[in-house]
Amino acid sequence: MHETGVCRSIVETVERFALAGHAKRVKTVRIKLGEVHDVVPEILVGAFEWMARGTVAEGAEMVIERIPFTVKCELCGEVYRLDVHDERTWDCPACHQRAYHLHTGREFLIDAIEIENYAPGETDDSASRLERLQAERRRSASDLAVSGRRPAGAPSVPLTGRAAAAHPLQPTSAPARHECKLNAM
Ligand SMILES: [Zn+2]
Repeated sequence: MHETGVCRSIVETVERFALAGHAKRVKTVRIKLGEVHDVVPEILVGAFEWMARGTVAEGAEMVIERIPFTVKCELCGEVYRLDVHDERTWDCPACHQRAYHLHTGREFLIDAIEIENYAPGETDDSASRLERLQAERRRSASDLAVSGRRPAGAPSVPLTGRAAAAHPLQPTSAPARHECKLNAM
């Protein structure tokens, strides 16, 4: 499904950004989504909630702003909404000609990531989590290259239901050292 692939890269980008910014957790991820894109916002939100589990972005709210499909008249500069299914909307309402290019609606980007930082006195482990994340990604990439299979621990992506096992990125006390050994394999 289109949304899950897109969502995976959103979660990865949010994680890298948040941990590099010493985030304790991510509060909100704001997405701009143009109407041209064949992405269902509800499915994207559901996929994000699921894929963010066990990461610094777990529990973050995804807010999607739909950007309307508009075109700009090449003759007079008028910007207007166009419905591809309704030819009556294709002519410029100002000069009544039909010469336009896409103005808005192609956007698909992370507009803002709002994070919560550690309070003074709290242990900031974001740097070590970022390191683990990068090591995990490298290992996943090499696993994929060798076996061509999904790396162990990377689940297929149902849009409902709970993750069965703790995500390897979940910060825990003991396994950090253990994971270094794994990395060296
Ligand atoms: Zn015009």
